[in-house]
Amino acid sequence: MEESPLQRITVEKTFYIETFGCQMNAHDSEKVAGTLVEEGYRQVGTPEEAGYVFYNTCSIRDKAEQKVFNRLQHFKRSAGKDKVFAVIGCVAQQEGEKIFDRAPHVSMVAGSASYSKLPQMLVQLEAGNKRVTGLSLDTTEAFDTPFTRRDNPHRAYLTIIEGCDKKCSYCVVPFTRGPERSRTSDSVMEEARRLADSGRTEIQLLGQNVNSYRDPSPAGWDFATLLDNVGRIPGIRRVRFMTSHPRDFVKPIIDAIESNPNLCSHVHLPVQSGSTSVLQGMQRLYTRAQYMERIEWMKNARRPISITTDIIVGFPGETESDFEDTLNLLEEVEYDSLFAFKYSVRPNTPAMHLGDQISEEEKTRRISILLERQRAIQIRRNTRRIGALEEVHVEGRHESLQQWIGRTEQNQTLNFSGRDNEALLGTYVPVRVTRAGPNSLVGESVR
Ligand code: SF4
Repeated sequence: MEESPLQRITVEKTFYIETFGCQMNAHDSEKVAGTLVEEGYRQVGTPEEAGYVFYNTCSIRDKAEQKVFNRLQHFKRSAGKDKVFAVIGCVAQQEGEKIFDRAPHVSMVAGSASYSKLPQMLVQLEAGNKRVTGLSLDTTEAFDTPFTRRDNPHRAYLTIIEGCDKKCSYCVVPFTRGPERSRTSDSVMEEARRLADSGRTEIQLLGQNVNSYRDPSPAGWDFATLLDNVGRIPGIRRVRFMTSHPRDFVKPIIDAIESNPNLCSHVHLPVQSGSTSVLQGMQRLYTRAQYMERIEWMKNARRPISITTDIIVGFPGETESDFEDTLNLLEEVEYDSLFAFKYSVRPNTPAMHLGDQISEEEKTRRISILLERQRAIQIRRNTRRIGALEEVHVEGRHESLQQWIGRTEQNQTLNFSGRDNEALLGTYVPVRVTRAGPNSLVGESVR
């Protein structure tokens, strides 16, 4: 009897995983990879070598979604016959079983709320099931596994909360990642201690909205308390967090940053628009004035805090005057950097019925003006840093430029020369800033 592709693949037990999208997805892939390794699978570097091909997908914008289907299409035509394809993450949750219609060679479709069931789903595939799904959002637990595969020996992501209970009108996340679920403070602290024991000195706490972290255990820690405690673990030198929702961003978080030098003085606080009427349409739950109040807390802090943001241009109904409000907000805050996006309609979002009212051409015009304005701000701010002494965490090396790649505690890239022959990766080096560009700084090590 001829062996079926699924039976043959079960013997191979190799997997490849490609990740699209945000840090949450990158960290989810580390958890998925760790779970697969624990189940006896071996990770390989290309889809061609793999028996199982996982695409961990992002549906925040149409482009990212399209990329996944292009990848699948490629394998439909070529070498895909001896492989099992799994579409996981946000596109999987959003499109569900429709993915099987669009790409019939896919065997697994699973959203992030179902990753804890991955071992059972693999067993079903190995038993010869042609299609398995994990699409339930009916969960009260954050996915936590001791098997997370972290390849970076110096810094690590650590999820503290999953899902989102906000209902920003343009956003698919509440639909693709389900309701908010916080991990207990004990489990977060235990994992953070393990990371410190393994030599990692930098931890980034992750969640769609870390500020709404609520410890479900009797200890009842809020986010500021958790942040402060992680920053006090021996061996941990830098703690970052991402992402913050302005409405839940409270003063005790600033107090923690002020009083604990291991908490990085950088806050990413997505504003999305400088116009209160657009913010209302986006259902962001704060006004420009309330947002600016949080900015003032940071500007008045005893430690200088770097502020970065996200902006969407071309939300339905955004007038020229609304857009001007966003531009003057940039000047008022003076962000150290920002991510700007053109609005695109996403399925299952409340803003879907508003359609796409601003033309693509106009959105392109607005985003170009915005980025140009922000570039000037960054040049201005970065130039002020020339001569400053910064401590950088060394993350890599540009051999062609003969420079080390470092990151300041305010999350800026600071590349530096000197000390070529030393093993600096993962260490902390004092660097004097000598030059500044819009997106990075250059300096000399001073030790
Ligand atoms: S806070 Fe808003 S933008 Fe952020 S994940 Fe939740 S719904 Fe989406």
